[in-house]
Amino acid sequence: MRSTPDVHLNLNVRGMRRSATVSNNEHLATLEREGHRVFRLGLGQSPFPVPGPVVEALRAAAACKDYMPVCGHEPLREAIASHLWRQQGVERSAADVLVGPGTKELMFLLQLVYYGDLVIPTPAWVSYAPQARIIGRRVVTLPTRAENDWRVTAEELDGLCAEDPGRPRIVILNYPSNPTGGTYRSDELREIARVARRHRFVLLSDEIYGDLHHRGQHVSVARYYPEGTIVSNGISKWCGAGGWRLGAFIFPPGMRWLLEAMAAAASETYTSVAAPIQRAAITAFAGGLWLEDYLTRSRRILAALGRELRRRLREAGVECSRPSGAFYLFPDFGPLRDGLAGAGIASSGDLCRRLLEDTGVGILPGTDFGRPPEELTARIAYVDFDGAKALEAMAGIPRSAQIGRAFLEEHCSPLLESVDRIAEWTFCLTHAKARLHVL
Ligand code: GLU
Repeated sequence: MRSTPDVHLNLNVRGMRRSATVSNNEHLATLEREGHRVFRLGLGQSPFPVPGPVVEALRAAAACKDYMPVCGHEPLREAIASHLWRQQGVERSAADVLVGPGTKELMFLLQLVYYGDLVIPTPAWVSYAPQARIIGRRVVTLPTRAENDWRVTAEELDGLCAEDPGRPRIVILNYPSNPTGGTYRSDELREIARVARRHRFVLLSDEIYGDLHHRGQHVSVARYYPEGTIVSNGISKWCGAGGWRLGAFIFPPGMRWLLEAMAAAASETYTSVAAPIQRAAITAFAGGLWLEDYLTRSRRILAALGRELRRRLREAGVECSRPSGAFYLFPDFGPLRDGLAGAGIASSGDLCRRLLEDTGVGILPGTDFGRPPEELTARIAYVDFDGAKALEAMAGIPRSAQIGRAFLEEHCSPLLESVDRIAEWTFCLTHAKARLHVL
Protein backbone atom coordinates (compact mmCIF):
# COMPACT_ATOMS: atom_id res chain seq x y z
CA MET A 1 0.00 0.00 0.00
CA ARG A 2 1.37 3.42 -0.92
CA SER A 3 1.88 5.93 1.84
CA THR A 4 -0.32 8.59 0.20
CA PRO A 5 -3.16 6.57 -1.25
CA ASP A 6 -5.46 9.59 -1.47
CA VAL A 7 -3.76 10.62 -4.71
CA HIS A 8 -5.88 7.88 -6.24
CA LEU A 9 -9.11 9.48 -5.12
CA ASN A 10 -11.45 11.26 -7.48
CA LEU A 11 -10.51 14.94 -7.22
CA ASN A 12 -14.12 15.84 -6.44
CA VAL A 13 -14.03 13.88 -3.19
CA ARG A 14 -10.41 14.32 -2.20
CA GLY A 15 -10.25 15.98 1.20
CA MET A 16 -13.97 15.61 1.69
CA ARG A 17 -15.19 14.61 5.13
CA ARG A 18 -18.36 12.89 6.27
CA SER A 19 -21.45 15.07 6.24
CA ALA A 20 -21.77 17.53 9.11
CA THR A 21 -24.94 15.95 10.52
CA VAL A 22 -23.68 12.40 10.34
CA SER A 23 -20.18 13.11 11.71
CA ASN A 24 -21.51 15.31 14.51
CA ASN A 25 -23.90 12.58 15.57
CA GLU A 26 -21.17 9.96 15.54
CA HIS A 27 -18.85 12.21 17.52
CA LEU A 28 -21.49 12.89 20.16
CA ALA A 29 -22.29 9.18 20.38
CA THR A 30 -18.60 8.46 21.03
CA LEU A 31 -18.47 11.06 23.79
CA GLU A 32 -21.56 9.52 25.32
CA ARG A 33 -20.05 6.03 25.20
CA GLU A 34 -17.00 7.42 26.96
CA GLY A 35 -19.26 8.47 29.80
CA HIS A 36 -19.68 12.20 29.09
CA ARG A 37 -23.03 13.87 29.59
CA VAL A 38 -23.96 15.20 26.16
CA PHE A 39 -27.04 16.84 24.70
CA ARG A 40 -27.51 15.62 21.15
CA LEU A 41 -28.95 18.53 19.24
CA GLY A 42 -26.84 17.99 16.11
CA LEU A 43 -28.64 15.39 14.01
CA GLY A 44 -32.17 16.16 12.91
CA GLN A 45 -33.74 12.85 13.80
CA SER A 46 -37.41 12.70 14.77
CA PRO A 47 -37.82 12.25 18.54
CA PHE A 48 -41.06 10.32 18.01
CA PRO A 49 -41.42 6.56 17.49
CA VAL A 50 -42.70 5.09 14.24
CA PRO A 51 -46.52 4.84 14.66
CA GLY A 52 -47.78 1.40 15.73
CA PRO A 53 -49.73 0.52 12.54
CA VAL A 54 -46.62 1.20 10.42
CA VAL A 55 -44.46 -0.98 12.68
CA GLU A 56 -47.11 -3.71 12.46
CA ALA A 57 -47.11 -3.46 8.66
CA LEU A 58 -43.33 -3.89 8.64
CA ARG A 59 -43.59 -6.92 10.88
CA ALA A 60 -46.17 -8.46 8.56
CA ALA A 61 -43.91 -7.82 5.56
CA ALA A 62 -40.71 -9.16 7.10
CA ALA A 63 -40.69 -12.27 4.91
CA CYS A 64 -40.97 -10.32 1.63
CA LYS A 65 -37.71 -11.04 -0.06
CA ASP A 66 -38.05 -10.23 -3.74
CA TYR A 67 -36.35 -7.36 -5.49
CA MET A 68 -38.85 -4.61 -6.12
CA PRO A 69 -39.28 -2.64 -9.36
CA VAL A 70 -36.64 0.08 -9.58
CA CYS A 71 -39.22 2.90 -9.42
CA GLY A 72 -40.89 1.35 -6.41
CA HIS A 73 -43.66 -1.06 -5.46
CA GLU A 74 -46.75 -0.07 -7.48
CA PRO A 75 -49.19 0.14 -4.52
CA LEU A 76 -46.71 2.36 -2.66
CA ARG A 77 -46.34 4.66 -5.64
CA GLU A 78 -50.13 4.88 -5.80
CA ALA A 79 -50.35 5.65 -2.08
CA ILE A 80 -47.75 8.43 -2.43
CA ALA A 81 -49.57 9.99 -5.39
CA SER A 82 -52.91 9.90 -3.49
CA HIS A 83 -51.27 11.41 -0.41
CA LEU A 84 -50.23 14.44 -2.49
CA TRP A 85 -53.71 14.66 -3.99
CA ARG A 86 -55.46 14.47 -0.59
CA GLN A 87 -53.21 17.02 1.03
CA GLN A 88 -52.50 19.48 -1.75
CA GLY A 89 -55.01 18.80 -4.51
CA VAL A 90 -52.10 18.17 -6.91
CA GLU A 91 -53.05 15.35 -9.25
CA ARG A 92 -50.35 12.78 -9.92
CA SER A 93 -50.37 9.08 -10.74
CA ALA A 94 -48.21 6.17 -9.61
CA ALA A 95 -46.24 6.56 -12.85
CA ASP A 96 -45.03 9.99 -11.66
CA VAL A 97 -43.48 8.63 -8.47
CA LEU A 98 -39.92 7.43 -7.94
CA VAL A 99 -39.21 5.70 -4.64
CA GLY A 100 -35.65 5.67 -3.34
CA PRO A 101 -33.53 4.79 -0.30
CA GLY A 102 -34.15 8.17 1.33
CA THR A 103 -34.67 11.47 -0.48
CA LYS A 104 -30.98 12.19 0.06
CA GLU A 105 -30.03 9.56 -2.53
CA LEU A 106 -32.71 10.76 -4.94
CA MET A 107 -31.34 14.30 -4.69
CA PHE A 108 -27.93 12.96 -5.57
CA LEU A 109 -29.28 11.07 -8.56
CA LEU A 110 -31.21 14.10 -9.75
CA GLN A 111 -28.06 16.19 -9.79
CA LEU A 112 -26.17 13.39 -11.46
CA VAL A 113 -28.56 13.03 -14.38
CA TYR A 114 -29.64 16.66 -14.84
CA TYR A 115 -27.05 18.86 -16.45
CA GLY A 116 -27.40 22.27 -14.84
CA ASP A 117 -26.44 24.54 -11.95
CA LEU A 118 -27.66 23.90 -8.46
CA VAL A 119 -29.16 26.99 -6.86
CA ILE A 120 -29.63 26.94 -3.10
CA PRO A 121 -30.88 29.72 -0.88
CA THR A 122 -28.77 29.67 2.29
CA PRO A 123 -28.92 28.71 5.09
CA ALA A 124 -29.57 25.33 3.49
CA TRP A 125 -29.40 21.71 4.58
CA VAL A 126 -25.83 20.45 4.87
CA SER A 127 -25.75 17.95 1.99
CA TYR A 128 -27.19 19.75 -1.03
CA ALA A 129 -23.96 21.53 -1.94
CA PRO A 130 -21.53 18.66 -1.19
CA GLN A 131 -23.60 16.36 -3.41
CA ALA A 132 -23.23 18.80 -6.30
CA ARG A 133 -19.50 19.01 -5.65
CA ILE A 134 -19.09 15.23 -5.73
CA ILE A 135 -20.72 15.21 -9.14
CA GLY A 136 -18.89 18.30 -10.31
CA ARG A 137 -21.90 20.58 -10.74
CA ARG A 138 -21.73 24.32 -10.24
CA VAL A 139 -23.30 25.45 -6.98
CA VAL A 140 -24.80 28.93 -6.75
CA THR A 141 -25.76 30.04 -3.28
CA LEU A 142 -28.31 32.73 -2.69
CA PRO A 143 -27.85 34.15 0.80
CA THR A 144 -31.07 35.05 2.58
CA ARG A 145 -31.48 37.54 5.43
CA ALA A 146 -32.48 37.13 9.06
CA GLU A 147 -34.76 40.19 8.68
CA ASN A 148 -36.75 38.20 6.15
CA ASP A 149 -36.75 35.14 8.41
CA TRP A 150 -34.17 33.51 6.14
CA ARG A 151 -36.62 33.19 3.23
CA VAL A 152 -35.57 33.73 -0.35
CA THR A 153 -37.69 36.23 -2.25
CA ALA A 154 -39.05 35.89 -5.77
CA GLU A 155 -37.11 39.04 -6.70
CA GLU A 156 -33.83 37.56 -5.52
CA LEU A 157 -34.43 34.42 -7.57
CA ASP A 158 -35.46 36.46 -10.57
CA GLY A 159 -32.33 38.63 -10.28
CA LEU A 160 -30.10 35.56 -10.23
CA CYS A 161 -31.78 33.89 -13.21
CA ALA A 162 -31.86 37.13 -15.22
CA GLU A 163 -28.04 37.27 -15.12
CA ASP A 164 -27.94 34.32 -17.54
CA PRO A 165 -31.50 33.63 -18.65
CA GLY A 166 -31.11 30.47 -20.72
CA ARG A 167 -29.01 28.52 -18.22
CA PRO A 168 -30.40 25.18 -16.99
CA ARG A 169 -30.89 25.17 -13.25
CA ILE A 170 -32.26 23.18 -10.38
CA VAL A 171 -33.48 25.44 -7.59
CA ILE A 172 -34.05 23.83 -4.21
CA LEU A 173 -36.75 25.22 -1.99
CA ASN A 174 -36.99 23.55 1.39
CA TYR A 175 -39.79 24.38 3.81
CA PRO A 176 -40.62 24.06 6.61
CA SER A 177 -36.95 24.73 6.59
CA ASN A 178 -34.03 22.75 7.77
CA PRO A 179 -32.22 24.59 9.45
CA THR A 180 -34.53 27.48 10.43
CA GLY A 181 -37.97 25.93 10.98
CA GLY A 182 -39.41 28.79 8.90
CA THR A 183 -41.89 28.41 6.07
CA TYR A 184 -43.44 30.36 3.17
CA ARG A 185 -46.84 31.98 2.85
CA SER A 186 -49.01 31.11 -0.15
CA ASP A 187 -48.57 34.54 -1.71
CA GLU A 188 -44.77 34.16 -1.54
CA LEU A 189 -44.99 30.72 -3.14
CA ARG A 190 -47.17 32.12 -5.92
CA GLU A 191 -44.53 34.77 -6.64
CA ILE A 192 -41.74 32.21 -6.65
CA ALA A 193 -43.80 30.05 -9.01
CA ARG A 194 -44.18 32.99 -11.39
CA VAL A 195 -40.41 33.45 -11.50
CA ALA A 196 -39.87 29.70 -11.92
CA ARG A 197 -42.26 29.65 -14.87
CA ARG A 198 -40.59 32.67 -16.44
CA HIS A 199 -37.12 31.06 -16.24
CA ARG A 200 -38.34 27.48 -16.61
CA PHE A 201 -36.07 26.09 -13.94
CA VAL A 202 -36.58 22.74 -12.29
CA LEU A 203 -37.93 23.45 -8.82
CA LEU A 204 -37.06 20.75 -6.33
CA SER A 205 -39.44 21.36 -3.46
CA ASP A 206 -38.05 19.56 -0.44
CA GLU A 207 -41.20 19.08 1.63
CA ILE A 208 -39.94 16.35 3.91
CA TYR A 209 -41.11 18.43 6.91
CA GLY A 210 -44.43 19.40 5.31
CA ASP A 211 -46.49 17.22 7.63
CA LEU A 212 -44.67 18.73 10.59
CA HIS A 213 -45.96 22.23 9.88
CA HIS A 214 -46.85 23.20 13.44
CA ARG A 215 -50.41 24.14 12.55
CA GLY A 216 -50.85 21.45 9.92
CA GLN A 217 -51.13 24.09 7.17
CA HIS A 218 -48.36 23.20 4.78
CA VAL A 219 -48.89 24.41 1.21
CA SER A 220 -46.94 22.85 -1.66
CA VAL A 221 -45.51 25.13 -4.32
CA ALA A 222 -46.50 22.37 -6.79
CA ARG A 223 -50.00 23.88 -6.60
CA TYR A 224 -48.70 27.01 -8.34
CA TYR A 225 -45.95 25.58 -10.57
CA PRO A 226 -47.26 22.11 -11.29
CA GLU A 227 -45.43 21.70 -14.59
CA GLY A 228 -41.94 22.22 -13.15
CA THR A 229 -42.01 21.19 -9.49
CA ILE A 230 -40.64 17.91 -8.21
CA VAL A 231 -42.00 17.29 -4.71
CA SER A 232 -39.64 15.49 -2.37
CA ASN A 233 -41.14 13.65 0.60
CA GLY A 234 -40.49 10.58 2.71
CA ILE A 235 -41.15 8.82 5.99
CA SER A 236 -38.04 10.01 7.86
CA LYS A 237 -39.47 13.02 9.65
CA TRP A 238 -43.27 13.02 10.02
CA CYS A 239 -43.33 9.24 10.42
CA GLY A 240 -40.25 9.05 12.64
CA ALA A 241 -38.56 6.50 10.37
CA GLY A 242 -35.26 8.12 9.34
CA GLY A 243 -33.33 4.90 9.75
CA TRP A 244 -35.72 3.00 7.49
CA ARG A 245 -34.37 4.99 4.56
CA LEU A 246 -37.34 5.54 2.29
CA GLY A 247 -38.11 8.67 0.33
CA ALA A 248 -39.84 9.59 -2.91
CA PHE A 249 -39.88 12.19 -5.67
CA ILE A 250 -43.18 13.05 -7.30
CA PHE A 251 -42.64 14.44 -10.79
CA PRO A 252 -44.86 16.47 -13.09
CA PRO A 253 -46.18 14.15 -15.84
CA GLY A 254 -44.20 16.20 -18.39
CA MET A 255 -40.95 15.27 -16.68
CA ARG A 256 -41.03 11.50 -17.17
CA TRP A 257 -37.78 11.81 -19.16
CA LEU A 258 -36.07 12.95 -15.95
CA LEU A 259 -37.67 10.24 -13.84
CA GLU A 260 -36.60 7.65 -16.44
CA ALA A 261 -33.00 8.86 -16.43
CA MET A 262 -32.91 8.68 -12.63
CA ALA A 263 -34.46 5.21 -12.72
CA ALA A 264 -31.77 4.05 -15.15
CA ALA A 265 -29.04 5.34 -12.80
CA ALA A 266 -30.84 3.78 -9.82
CA SER A 267 -31.06 0.42 -11.56
CA GLU A 268 -27.29 0.42 -12.02
CA THR A 269 -26.58 1.37 -8.42
CA TYR A 270 -29.01 0.36 -5.66
CA THR A 271 -31.59 -1.61 -7.76
CA SER A 272 -34.55 -0.99 -5.45
CA VAL A 273 -35.53 -0.10 -1.91
CA ALA A 274 -35.91 -2.89 0.67
CA ALA A 275 -39.17 -4.77 0.01
CA PRO A 276 -40.51 -4.89 3.61
CA ILE A 277 -39.88 -1.17 4.10
CA GLN A 278 -41.77 -0.32 0.93
CA ARG A 279 -44.75 -2.39 2.02
CA ALA A 280 -44.80 -0.79 5.44
CA ALA A 281 -44.59 2.68 3.90
CA ILE A 282 -47.92 2.05 2.11
CA THR A 283 -49.60 2.15 5.54
CA ALA A 284 -47.83 5.43 6.37
CA PHE A 285 -48.81 7.20 3.14
CA ALA A 286 -52.35 5.78 3.15
CA GLY A 287 -52.73 7.25 6.66
CA GLY A 288 -55.96 7.31 8.61
CA LEU A 289 -57.34 8.74 11.83
CA TRP A 290 -54.51 7.16 13.81
CA LEU A 291 -51.97 9.11 11.73
CA GLU A 292 -53.90 12.35 12.08
CA ASP A 293 -53.88 11.89 15.83
CA TYR A 294 -50.16 11.06 15.88
CA LEU A 295 -49.35 14.10 13.75
CA THR A 296 -51.55 16.44 15.77
CA ARG A 297 -49.80 15.39 18.96
CA SER A 298 -46.33 15.61 17.41
CA ARG A 299 -47.03 19.09 16.06
CA ARG A 300 -48.37 20.41 19.34
CA ILE A 301 -45.29 19.24 21.20
CA LEU A 302 -42.90 20.65 18.59
CA ALA A 303 -44.74 23.96 18.41
CA ALA A 304 -44.68 24.39 22.19
CA LEU A 305 -41.02 23.45 22.35
CA GLY A 306 -40.06 25.80 19.55
CA ARG A 307 -41.85 28.68 21.28
CA GLU A 308 -40.34 27.98 24.68
CA LEU A 309 -36.77 27.36 23.54
CA ARG A 310 -36.82 30.45 21.36
CA ARG A 311 -38.12 32.49 24.28
CA ARG A 312 -35.26 31.30 26.49
CA LEU A 313 -32.67 32.03 23.82
CA ARG A 314 -33.98 35.52 23.24
CA GLU A 315 -34.03 36.20 26.95
CA ALA A 316 -30.31 35.37 26.90
CA GLY A 317 -29.75 37.99 24.19
CA VAL A 318 -29.59 35.57 21.25
CA GLU A 319 -31.66 36.39 18.16
CA CYS A 320 -33.82 33.67 16.72
CA SER A 321 -36.60 33.66 14.15
CA ARG A 322 -39.91 32.00 14.97
CA PRO A 323 -40.22 28.39 13.82
CA SER A 324 -43.41 27.35 11.99
CA GLY A 325 -42.59 23.73 11.38
CA ALA A 326 -40.08 20.87 11.80
CA PHE A 327 -37.79 20.72 14.85
CA TYR A 328 -35.11 23.30 14.19
CA LEU A 329 -34.08 26.70 15.47
CA PHE A 330 -31.41 28.84 13.85
CA PRO A 331 -30.17 31.18 16.57
CA ASP A 332 -27.84 34.08 15.84
CA PHE A 333 -25.38 34.91 18.63
CA GLY A 334 -24.35 38.06 16.75
CA PRO A 335 -25.70 40.46 19.40
CA LEU A 336 -23.21 38.92 21.88
CA ARG A 337 -20.32 39.15 19.44
CA ASP A 338 -18.14 41.51 21.49
CA GLY A 339 -18.38 39.48 24.67
CA LEU A 340 -17.79 36.23 22.81
CA ALA A 341 -14.78 37.69 20.99
CA GLY A 342 -13.29 38.42 24.42
CA ALA A 343 -13.52 34.69 25.08
CA GLY A 344 -11.75 33.87 21.80
CA ILE A 345 -14.91 33.03 19.84
CA ALA A 346 -14.94 34.70 16.44
CA SER A 347 -16.71 32.20 14.19
CA SER A 348 -19.68 29.86 14.31
CA GLY A 349 -17.24 26.92 14.28
CA ASP A 350 -15.46 28.29 17.40
CA LEU A 351 -18.82 28.84 19.01
CA CYS A 352 -20.06 25.27 18.57
CA ARG A 353 -16.73 23.69 19.49
CA ARG A 354 -16.47 25.71 22.69
CA LEU A 355 -20.11 25.19 23.57
CA LEU A 356 -19.67 21.43 23.34
CA GLU A 357 -16.44 21.47 25.34
CA ASP A 358 -17.82 23.67 28.08
CA THR A 359 -21.41 22.46 28.39
CA GLY A 360 -21.84 19.15 26.57
CA VAL A 361 -24.41 20.68 24.21
CA GLY A 362 -23.81 19.63 20.59
CA ILE A 363 -25.20 21.87 17.85
CA LEU A 364 -24.03 22.63 14.31
CA PRO A 365 -22.39 25.86 13.13
CA GLY A 366 -23.97 28.11 10.50
CA THR A 367 -21.02 27.38 8.18
CA ASP A 368 -22.34 23.83 7.73
CA PHE A 369 -25.46 25.42 6.24
CA GLY A 370 -23.57 27.67 3.85
CA ARG A 371 -23.33 30.78 6.04
CA PRO A 372 -20.13 32.86 6.36
CA PRO A 373 -17.84 31.81 9.26
CA GLU A 374 -17.92 35.17 10.99
CA GLU A 375 -21.70 35.08 11.26
CA LEU A 376 -22.40 33.56 14.66
CA THR A 377 -25.33 31.39 13.62
CA ALA A 378 -25.96 27.75 14.50
CA ARG A 379 -28.63 25.10 14.16
CA ILE A 380 -30.36 23.53 17.11
CA ALA A 381 -32.24 20.30 16.37
CA TYR A 382 -34.63 20.17 19.32
CA VAL A 383 -35.03 16.43 19.37
CA ASP A 384 -33.16 15.17 22.41
CA PHE A 385 -36.04 13.99 24.59
CA ASP A 386 -38.20 10.90 24.98
CA GLY A 387 -40.72 11.44 22.19
CA ALA A 388 -42.64 8.24 22.96
CA LYS A 389 -43.40 9.36 26.51
CA ALA A 390 -44.24 12.89 25.44
CA LEU A 391 -46.65 11.63 22.77
CA GLU A 392 -48.31 9.34 25.28
CA ALA A 393 -48.72 12.16 27.77
CA MET A 394 -50.32 14.33 25.09
CA ALA A 395 -53.10 11.80 24.64
CA GLY A 396 -54.76 12.98 27.83
CA ILE A 397 -54.63 16.70 27.02
CA PRO A 398 -57.66 18.26 25.31
CA ARG A 399 -57.03 19.78 21.89
CA SER A 400 -58.11 23.20 23.05
CA ALA A 401 -55.59 23.31 25.91
CA GLN A 402 -52.29 25.17 25.53
CA ILE A 403 -49.17 23.08 26.11
CA GLY A 404 -47.54 24.97 28.92
CA ARG A 405 -44.13 25.00 30.53
CA ALA A 406 -45.17 22.43 33.12
CA PHE A 407 -45.71 19.85 30.36
CA LEU A 408 -42.36 20.64 28.77
CA GLU A 409 -40.55 20.57 32.13
CA GLU A 410 -42.01 17.15 32.80
CA HIS A 411 -41.55 15.52 29.40
CA CYS A 412 -38.83 17.40 27.53
CA SER A 413 -36.53 18.40 30.37
CA PRO A 414 -33.18 17.51 28.70
CA LEU A 415 -34.00 20.00 25.98
CA LEU A 416 -34.91 22.79 28.36
CA GLU A 417 -31.76 22.04 30.29
CA SER A 418 -29.62 22.18 27.16
CA VAL A 419 -30.95 25.59 26.17
CA ASP A 420 -30.56 26.83 29.73
CA ARG A 421 -26.95 25.69 29.54
CA ILE A 422 -26.48 27.66 26.33
CA ALA A 423 -27.98 30.72 28.01
CA GLU A 424 -25.87 30.38 31.16
CA TRP A 425 -22.74 29.73 29.10
CA THR A 426 -23.19 32.84 26.99
CA PHE A 427 -23.85 34.84 30.15
CA CYS A 428 -20.68 33.51 31.80
CA LEU A 429 -18.52 34.14 28.74
CA THR A 430 -19.84 37.58 28.01
CA HIS A 431 -19.51 38.56 31.67
CA ALA A 432 -16.05 36.95 31.97
CA LYS A 433 -17.24 34.58 34.68
CA ALA A 434 -15.84 31.13 35.35
CA ARG A 435 -16.71 28.59 32.64
CA LEU A 436 -19.09 25.72 33.13
CA HIS A 437 -17.19 22.49 32.78
CA VAL A 438 -18.92 19.33 31.80
CA LEU A 439 -16.71 17.40 29.41
N1 GLU B 1 -31.81 15.63 7.69
C1 GLU B 1 -31.28 15.44 9.00
C2 GLU B 1 -30.43 16.63 9.43
O1 GLU B 1 -30.32 17.60 8.75
C3 GLU B 1 -30.49 14.17 9.19
C4 GLU B 1 -30.18 13.32 8.05
C5 GLU B 1 -28.98 13.69 7.25
O2 GLU B 1 -28.44 14.81 7.31
O3 GLU B 1 -28.57 12.82 6.51
O4 GLU B 1 -29.90 16.59 10.49
